[in-house]
Amino acid sequence: MQTVTLLGATGSIGTSALDVIERHPDRYRLHALTAHSSVEKLLSLCLTHQPEHAVLGSEEDAAQLEAALKDHGISTRVSWGEQALCEVAGQADVVIAGIVGAAGLMPTLAAVRAGRRVLLANKEALVMSGALFMREVARSGAVLLPLDSEHNAIFQCLPREHRGGLDRHGITQLLLTASGGPFRDHDREALATVTPDQACAHPNWSMGRKISVDSATLMNKGLELIEACWLFDATPDQIDVVVHPQSVIHSMAAYSDGSVLAQMGNPDMRTPIAHALAWPERIDAGVRPLDLFAVARLDFQTPDLERFPCLRLAREAMMAGGTMPAVLNAANEIAVDAFLAGSIGFTDIPVVVETVMGRIERHNADELDVILAQDRLARHMAQDVIDALATTAAE
Ligand code: NAD
Ligand code: MG
Repeated sequence: MQTVTLLGATGSIGTSALDVIERHPDRYRLHALTAHSSVEKLLSLCLTHQPEHAVLGSEEDAAQLEAALKDHGISTRVSWGEQALCEVAGQADVVIAGIVGAAGLMPTLAAVRAGRRVLLANKEALVMSGALFMREVARSGAVLLPLDSEHNAIFQCLPREHRGGLDRHGITQLLLTASGGPFRDHDREALATVTPDQACAHPNWSMGRKISVDSATLMNKGLELIEACWLFDATPDQIDVVVHPQSVIHSMAAYSDGSVLAQMGNPDMRTPIAHALAWPERIDAGVRPLDLFAVARLDFQTPDLERFPCLRLAREAMMAGGTMPAVLNAANEIAVDAFLAGSIGFTDIPVVVETVMGRIERHNADELDVILAQDRLARHMAQDVIDALATTAAE
């Protein structure tokens, strides 16, 4: 029996993870469930799962949840804030990092530092602090398993021991597949006027709003390229992005003898979640079997970096190294928020990110304080760019 802390329990990853965990009461017991501000949703999850701890973002929300749980006679202990998140992340055998954005960095690092089995969905945490994050994994002996479907696929296609550079293991290329998002076939003019709801209507995956917008701009694939470099000791030029609209092949690894190994399945996050929970064993995920006759064909295209510059920007950030990926991520988070709030257009997102990357200095990313300072600075700069864009648009 293993205890599990689920960070971001009310989100899309959280919901899929709970679905898998519920199928295996003999293997997993919930230690903690966390959410930012969805008190009602977290209450309902606590009533069902009765974890030992629940964590919310504010004191007020925590008090509300605590009172409601008391009314129901449930003894779950409620706390709030980043420190509380870090505590519950350090306590369980398995930690599922399902918080979205930079907010997940400290709790995910806390799980790593405590040497837990860390199931990583929160790619932003790794993008921001890659070198430091992987150093902490090595130091603490944490078992880091990717939940991102592409990285989970690659993990399944690599030899069990794959550290020390791809060359050493006869791997020539990692092929990250991308659905291309909802605007794969839009021309530039059409892209300029798409709405947040259109951007969030992903053709193959149902996900939170931030990652849905990232999928539509291809920034998600850019963040994933950076994520893959850290997870698999790869250089950016060892990673190719292949647009594959059916999302049946989740990614591939190419070997020096000409073999290309692919992991396939229906697009359902419960597969990578079940894989990482049970690894190296296999457990039921509740996912329906892949029907290749229904899929019928698999298409592959090259990504268009002219229409989707975010992928190019992410590659450039990784090549620049240091704090540049953290800067890219921070500027993107602010730009995506502004797009979702209706303050800027879809095609302004890469403009904001590229402008901030051009204005900010690159620092070494060995220390957390430096990374966090650059993250804050990039957010301020991104907001300035957004304000300037809004002023220009109003004139
Ligand atoms: P989501 O928006 O559906 O859920 C986010 C969760 O994080 C919620 O539980 C929310 O309460 C919590 N949260 C948000 N802001 C917070 C804050 N400031 N402090 C603490 N908690 C906070 O997002 P999602 O789609 O589940 O994605 C979560 C992460 O997983 C992202 O990093 C995303 O890139 C990654 N991911 C998601 C999918 C997917 O299918 N949804 C696939 C691959 C990777
Ligand atoms: Mg992915």
